[in-house]
Amino acid sequence: MEKNVSFMRSLCMGAIHEEQLLPFPKMADAERETVETVLGSLRQLLESHAKDFPAWDRSGEFPPEFIEELREFGLFSLVIPEEHGGLGLRNAAYSRTLQEISKYDASTAVTVGAHSSIGMRGLLLFGNDEQKARYLPKLATGEMIAAFCLTEPGSGSDAASIKTRAVRDGADWVISGEKLWITNGGIADFFTVFAKTSGPEERRKLSAFIVTRDMPGVSVGPHEDKMGLRASSTTTVMLDQVRVPAANLLGEEGKGFKIAMGILNSGRTGLGGGAVGGMKRLIELATVQAQSRVQFDKKISEFGLIKKKIGDMVVSCYAAESAVSMVAGLIDEGVTDYAIEAAISKVFASEALWAAADEALQVAGGNGFMREFPYEQIVRDTRINRIFEGTNDILRLFIALNAMDDVGQNLKELAATLKDVFADPIKGFGVIRDYAIHRAQLATGLSTQSAKRTFTQLAPELKAEQEIFEWGTRELASAADKLLRRHGKKIIEKQLATARMADIMIHLFVLACVLSRVTSAISEKGAPAAEKEISIAQIFADRVERIIRSAVSEIDKNTDEQLKALADHAFENERYVWDTL
Ligand SMILES: Cc1cc2nc3c(=O)[nH]c(=O)nc-3n(C[C@H](O)[C@H](O)[C@H](O)COP(=O)(O)OP(=O)(O)OC[C@H]3O[C@@H](n4cnc5c(N)ncnc54)[C@H](O)[C@@H]3O)c2cc1C
Repeated sequence: MEKNVSFMRSLCMGAIHEEQLLPFPKMADAERETVETVLGSLRQLLESHAKDFPAWDRSGEFPPEFIEELREFGLFSLVIPEEHGGLGLRNAAYSRTLQEISKYDASTAVTVGAHSSIGMRGLLLFGNDEQKARYLPKLATGEMIAAFCLTEPGSGSDAASIKTRAVRDGADWVISGEKLWITNGGIADFFTVFAKTSGPEERRKLSAFIVTRDMPGVSVGPHEDKMGLRASSTTTVMLDQVRVPAANLLGEEGKGFKIAMGILNSGRTGLGGGAVGGMKRLIELATVQAQSRVQFDKKISEFGLIKKKIGDMVVSCYAAESAVSMVAGLIDEGVTDYAIEAAISKVFASEALWAAADEALQVAGGNGFMREFPYEQIVRDTRINRIFEGTNDILRLFIALNAMDDVGQNLKELAATLKDVFADPIKGFGVIRDYAIHRAQLATGLSTQSAKRTFTQLAPELKAEQEIFEWGTRELASAADKLLRRHGKKIIEKQLATARMADIMIHLFVLACVLSRVTSAISEKGAPAAEKEISIAQIFADRVERIIRSAVSEIDKNTDEQLKALADHAFENERYVWDTL
């Protein structure tokens, strides 16, 4: 497998690099045994708190004793290498562990996830040996819990606009600023802080620093009163003239943006795993609920509309699980260019979870709205996944613009016009520029590999679904080409068209993951035993075909401009102006 090839980048140019996705990734036996042992005792721990979780949701805080239990259990050590005292789980194993925690409690999953997926991941990915030796053992025991500090009152999606400053003073950096909504803020001792280093405005660039709670000038605000994830700690983190030794600079000065995006990309399978765990719990709840509720002298599970909801949940859960596991597997295989695929898995899994939470509540009817049932808390807990770690809207732009960048590079006659476009596609997503430069050569190389237009290793039972995928690929490549030729530089202003491209890409990638997984299932247990999984592939491929047909037809015929004009009209009036009175 080529380690620096992105399946989706190639796909946008019509090439199917099936060796990236086949065979479906599988954990090595030793690692699987470790995970099974961890999951076994994890279930015991979480089961013992089943009644506490709703109470802590209501009180809006975990008691310190529970955080201590998480420490003692080793839940802060999951991804830390064994030589530093950790469990050394790789991406797939870590994602599977977060999946299990999420089945019990989203606040607990986020507490553990913010530590491992983003809080200390910068140290793991970009720290030097001395920094790792200094902090990883304490992070592994949970003596230090980690937090990731990027967001500020004036800077969310536009991460490059942060105001926190780091001024060099002798051997130290002096950091001042305010960070907002920091997960684990109230319990963390280790903060990965992003600040702009000093210099003239145009040269001020983001850098990443390790800041610890004991440094004078670090303080945290009160626990935020949130809609969901209420027991997890979310606070502001204030930095008032904090002296940070130069040895705490993470990676290179001025590379903070790349570091932040690298952390978020690498941590996405944590959130994805959590989303899959949430869906599995919802399917358990909804199936039991539907079979115990009787209306019109029948269990409601016998009604077609209820069956459709449950069936859809199962298909979406399988699809999300396939995509998240695939991305985790790619990372574990050492693939370096997985940012688009990771973003896709986050968007798909978080939206599938949201739809499942909404439908499970619907299956429960009025009970779903009552606090004595778990659904309302799950709906509240679930909503944030579409917002944090990159909003799904921003990620859609990221997915499509990144891939179209390569297509643009390939359209030689457009290359010059497009040169500046991808330099600043979305303010705050300047990382695309880095990719643009990095990928230009690769893009040209890929374009010559025109032979790879089909899958050759999928199970024959999936022939019709393979054809849908290949048809979709041709539609994607021609849509990308068409959009770039039509809009050129202005593609950046065509967000609705870009989001449609992203939707095509998202569904094609997830379909490819499903086909890969079902192919493995068929080869392992034979087609008859894999009958239900084949059926999932058929249903999902049918869904994908409809989505692509609709997105492609809207490229030429849509009401985008009218819709935007209507929004402008609403902005002008700041209200809905019509009435039937
Ligand atoms: C519970 C919780 C925990 C969090 N934990 C952390 C943490 O640990 N560390 C951390 O650093 N941050 C954290 N955050 C912050 C989170 O990452 C941000 O909320 C998120 O990045 C979005 O930023 P924002 O809320 O400022 O929204 P904004 O960026 O203001 O966006 C508002 C809306 O506008 C859209 N939008 C913005 N720009 C564009 C554009 N160019 N084109 C189209 N649409 C656009 C967005 O998609 C969104 O729908 C947390 C937030 C919450 C609520």
